[in-house]
Amino acid sequence: QNSLNSQLQGLYTQAQVLYTHILLKTKVGEPALAYLQNRELAAEVIDEFSLGFAPNQGNVLLDYFTSHQVARELLVRSGLFVQTNDGRLIDRFRNRVMFPITNQNGQVIAFSGRILTASENEPKYLNSPETQLFQKRETLYHFSQAKQSIRESKTAILFEGFMDVISAYKAGVTNGVASMGTSLTSQQLYLLSRAAQKLIVCYDGDEPGQKATAEALKLLKNESFEVGIISLPDKQDPDEFVKAHGAAAFQKQLSQNVLTPIAFQLQHLRSDYNLNLDGDRLAYVQAALQDIVTIDSSVEQELYLQQVANETQLDLTALKNEFETARVKYA
Ligand code: ATP
Ligand code: MN
Ligand code: MN
Ligand code: MN
Repeated sequence: QNSLNSQLQGLYTQAQVLYTHILLKTKVGEPALAYLQNRELAAEVIDEFSLGFAPNQGNVLLDYFTSHQVARELLVRSGLFVQTNDGRLIDRFRNRVMFPITNQNGQVIAFSGRILTASENEPKYLNSPETQLFQKRETLYHFSQAKQSIRESKTAILFEGFMDVISAYKAGVTNGVASMGTSLTSQQLYLLSRAAQKLIVCYDGDEPGQKATAEALKLLKNESFEVGIISLPDKQDPDEFVKAHGAAAFQKQLSQNVLTPIAFQLQHLRSDYNLNLDGDRLAYVQAALQDIVTIDSSVEQELYLQQVANETQLDLTALKNEFETARVKYA
């Protein structure tokens, strides 16, 4: 079992070295390198994240491992290949920029590959299948590399995607990790809890990202992190925000635009209502009060009651009466 693990481990490391070589040093890698340059990734950043390229032609990995006499059984188990109907193995990743995914010790245990040009019949990102080395629920992208910075700042920043972590890094934010698009798990939070006291959720500013933030907050209710939320403007994701506004503006978001969970919830809730309509205003008030009754501190309750009063242009005293009723109903 253990030696099988280390053999698989070895394959992934070798695959990463090969993919990186192809990206940086070969003619077939040129379109991928141009793609990454177009996304404003400098050589140091490509190096830091050990990015690579899996070409479209041939079976580079299969040929490489075959010439090194790797047993077919091990190749099958690795998840790096798919079997054709007639039982042949072929490379799983083709024509994709390769993002190595590491375990807590920094060893490569999986890949995600991004297609170079959008296509309708292929997913944008293709992940390695789960193996005995790689369990998605227990993995956070870039955690092993970010751990030191997380410890020092006692803070981790949670992003959705690979390019968000990388763009944040480029902007000087080195304590970022990504849940890789799927919903956050308690195992991932456990990893973070051993290094961070504070967790900042910085998902995409679009509706799926904001929904995912609300879901993450539900999970975080059972945890002891101090939680902050960044809600980026204009539906941008962190990568797009950095590209559009620069590193300083992004750092400013992280230091000055952090919402409390309740402030985020109210903002997210508000986007469902048209506050110019009486019916919507009343419905918003009721929904908002349900959130506000869950707050422990009465000063904080007062703060958000006032906010809702301002937003809806309702009288604060009337709102407070309604709040007392809500407290009996929902608390
Ligand atoms: P890019 O900037 O390269 O277009 P993104 O990170 O903005 O990608 P999103 O659609 O916001 O892409 O998805 C967030 C994350 O979800 C991705 O970085 C990736 O980890 C994961 N993801 C997205 N699409 C897929 C997919 N088809 N299969 C598996 N994971 C995916
Ligand atoms: Mn997204
Ligand atoms: Mn995104
Ligand atoms: Mn993006």
